[in-house]
Amino acid sequence: ATPVSIMVGTGRAAELGVLFRKGDALQRLDTVKLVAFDKTGTLTEGRPELSHAMAAPGFDVDEVLRLAASAEQGSEHPIAQALMRAAPDAPQPEEVTALPGLGLEATVESRAILVGAPRLMTARGIDTAPVADALDRTAQAAETPVLVAVDGQIAAVFGVADRLKPDARAAVAALKAEGLEVALISGDARPVAEAIARDLGIAHVTAEVLPEGKLDALRDLQQSFGAVAFVGDGINDAPALAAAEVGLAIGTGTDVAIESADVVMASGRVSGVVTAHHVSRHVMRNIR
Ligand code: ADP
Ligand code: MG
Repeated sequence: ATPVSIMVGTGRAAELGVLFRKGDALQRLDTVKLVAFDKTGTLTEGRPELSHAMAAPGFDVDEVLRLAASAEQGSEHPIAQALMRAAPDAPQPEEVTALPGLGLEATVESRAILVGAPRLMTARGIDTAPVADALDRTAQAAETPVLVAVDGQIAAVFGVADRLKPDARAAVAALKAEGLEVALISGDARPVAEAIARDLGIAHVTAEVLPEGKLDALRDLQQSFGAVAFVGDGINDAPALAAAEVGLAIGTGTDVAIESADVVMASGRVSGVVTAHHVSRHVMRNIR
């Protein structure tokens, strides 16, 4: 491709809402063998809703929800937003520490509150046996389990569910039709990641990874498949966006993700990836 055809290509992509930061990203995208997606906020809306609430014996579910929502007051995580919407009158917490990829810990009304993934409870030595049935139910419903501990005891499990973006299915199908492999890399629970992958026809799934783990998963895919594009929106996605041959950020995502990417898709739509790939292929192969 000539410098002029690359310029024309980036201009055409821009008209379609896909901003290539540098011309070499347009060239590299045509060499990509696999596209790996983040899940929350990338393939899904990133606006999960609370759909189940189950207290452990001896706890009141509304009271635990209020404490959890209080702990989440300062958090921008989509799960925090879901809990705060469900308990809008929760008080300010006394103290909060975010635990990226796990959840958070807080002091609310002098009580020690932990909110997050099952592995957070495991890491803190909290016995989750009293909520085993609730965990089974969230797994079967493909919901993200949000566990809450109060003063060192498991107190409740909340199930939260997020919707796929309307164009996610068509976008994944279009990439596969172009001969690309598609992968999912998520920090979320395995049943949730696998249900979405099955739904979209994604063959390669990595779930329950900590933020550093997203980069490791990406490197594994590069080893197995060659050049990889990564699509993400979160702070957690920044290292993978930077390390991929081409990083594509969802335009409605976090600033850190956008700054780490080679390509920014102005809208929140997934189909920007397909547009970017089309333009790259046309320019590099001189198709008119
Ligand atoms: P993802 O956006 O892919 O789910 P994250 O790394 O943000 O990845 O989080 C991984 C998991 O850690 C979440 O699915 C959730 O279970 C838990 N988690 C992280 N932050 C919070 C939070 N503020 N409140 C509750 N759970 C959280
Ligand atoms: Mg995300």
